[in-house]
Amino acid sequence: MTSPPRRAPRAGIDPDPAKTWLRRAWPLVRAHRALLITSLTLSFIGLIVQVQIPDLVRIGIDTALVDRTASLNRYVVLIAILAVVQGVINFLARLYLLRTAYELEYDLRNIVFNHLMRMSYGFYDRVQSGELMSRATSDIRAVQMYLAFGPSILVQCMIAGIAFALMLSINAPLAVVAMAAMPVIAVLGVRMRKAVFPVSWLIQSRLAGVATVVDENIQGVRIVKAFAAEQRQINSLAAAADGVRWAYTTDARIRSRWMPAMDNLSRVGLALVLLVGGLMVLDGHATIGTIVAFNSYVLMLQPPFRMLGMIIMMGQRAAASAQRIYEIVDTPPDISEKSETPPSPPPRGDLRFEGVHFSYPDGTVALRGLDLHIAPGETVALVGATGSGKSTVGKLTARFYDAGGGRVLLDGQDVRDYRLSTLRDRIGIVPDEPFLFSVSLHENIAFGRPGASRDEVEAAARAAGADEFISQLPDGYDTVVGERGYTLSGGQRQRVAIARALLLNPPVLILDDATSAVDVRVEHEIHASLRGLMAGRTTIVVAHRLATIGLAERVVLIDDGRVVADGTHAGLLAHSPKYRQVLAAQEVHA
Ligand code: ADP
Ligand code: MG
Repeated sequence: MTSPPRRAPRAGIDPDPAKTWLRRAWPLVRAHRALLITSLTLSFIGLIVQVQIPDLVRIGIDTALVDRTASLNRYVVLIAILAVVQGVINFLARLYLLRTAYELEYDLRNIVFNHLMRMSYGFYDRVQSGELMSRATSDIRAVQMYLAFGPSILVQCMIAGIAFALMLSINAPLAVVAMAAMPVIAVLGVRMRKAVFPVSWLIQSRLAGVATVVDENIQGVRIVKAFAAEQRQINSLAAAADGVRWAYTTDARIRSRWMPAMDNLSRVGLALVLLVGGLMVLDGHATIGTIVAFNSYVLMLQPPFRMLGMIIMMGQRAAASAQRIYEIVDTPPDISEKSETPPSPPPRGDLRFEGVHFSYPDGTVALRGLDLHIAPGETVALVGATGSGKSTVGKLTARFYDAGGGRVLLDGQDVRDYRLSTLRDRIGIVPDEPFLFSVSLHENIAFGRPGASRDEVEAAARAAGADEFISQLPDGYDTVVGERGYTLSGGQRQRVAIARALLLNPPVLILDDATSAVDVRVEHEIHASLRGLMAGRTTIVVAHRLATIGLAERVVLIDDGRVVADGTHAGLLAHSPKYRQVLAAQEVHA
């Protein structure tokens, strides 16, 4: 069931933020240098061979056609052979270049994702997931393209130099004439890219805008329909699409202003070669073959000069993308393990909050000096108004966030002194809106213990009241759920999530409103089995319904981030007006 381990990234990003982006990416490129150098060497050889061909045409024409001193066949065969050789070499060069590019992309992707997985809740509170997705795809691609294709374009420019040297040796004045247009083409190319570049950014961001509109409306299509808002949403897409159309049209207008100039310049080059070369032929200073060969060179050498502009812009784009990727990689996880964690005490399930203060990254104060002790094996119901801090208690226990003040102790040891994996093995949290992956129910339940057997998974599902509906599905535990699979109701998802937590058999179990979407009849059934499971386990249930509160022998009332009452349900009901008030408010919703 578990997939085989894959290759880890060959290298990382240089952690020194003072270095330039290229220097920081260098370890990655170095790690794939064998492939990259092979590809560059091959493309260099291929281009050398290519440069020979016009020269052979020249000699062929001059000797076989003009002077009639050699056989034409020889040159035809020779050129054909060189063409084949060049084809094979270019094929290999291209293959290795693309492989380098995709290896780099693979590494970058993994580096970014590994880092994202290490980031804690606070990071995800701050960043927008849509933006993260875009960084993970388009920015990685921009960097990869530049790292792999940049050197290859440089090789092509080098070849232009070699070809120029060859042309100089054949006919120096004509070589200068033939190359005269190239710098102008290069300058025009750079200028065109500069003009197009801001627009291409605009195109990117507007395309992302369209994608967001489409994505949100498809995700939220049921709401759109429920409010008969189709026409309005169609209009909002049209507005976004119009923005894209405008940006593309502008891009096309700019390009079409520059492209003919560049194309015509190369034709001017051909005309100049014919004019100057022709005069030289008439004077006997050049041969017909030279004119033909130089024509080919003019056409062959143009692309690298045109691409000069592209490589400069690719470099700028890659630099910006790299900075955004580094921003992620440079953000240290705010929840990290101590380098040396003391040995963990044996798990008993003793939980203690000592004067815990906590604010979310955006400044919302959630806990203001919370004191609470839960003895091993005790079941406590947390009751409180919405926003009073109940869920925050669970999140701090599992150290999704660190307390701003005070301490959270598990079995007498500060949770910050645990290895994270140990801590989270000992605490099972079921959130109120559980997330299911697009895999089978078995895999969803066994998420925390991928090796669990079908029997174990079924036992956990039975305890969570999920076995009944799962076994009625045609594919049972092999039913794929989530986005691309069978749709479960809210209550069914919660039961799957409870099963997922139970399978880990943690000494501390936190059910955060975990049965809020389960209907009352089913909840009763789950409670029966939960009672058995809670025995001997420290359990916190965040509860709204009286029935759920009834699972606990002790009720803790939280208000505004503090414990304001602590006792039995009956005791609180009798002595705490606040408790009566909270219950009254919640029974209405239940
Ligand atoms: P409860 O579970 O009792 O409804 P929470 O513990 O979820 O309350 O929230 C306590 C306070 O913290 C509320 O004011 C809530 O708005 C705020 N809060 C909860 N989660 C976040 C978050 N991720 N970022 C910022 N504020 C949050
Ligand atoms: Mg909550």
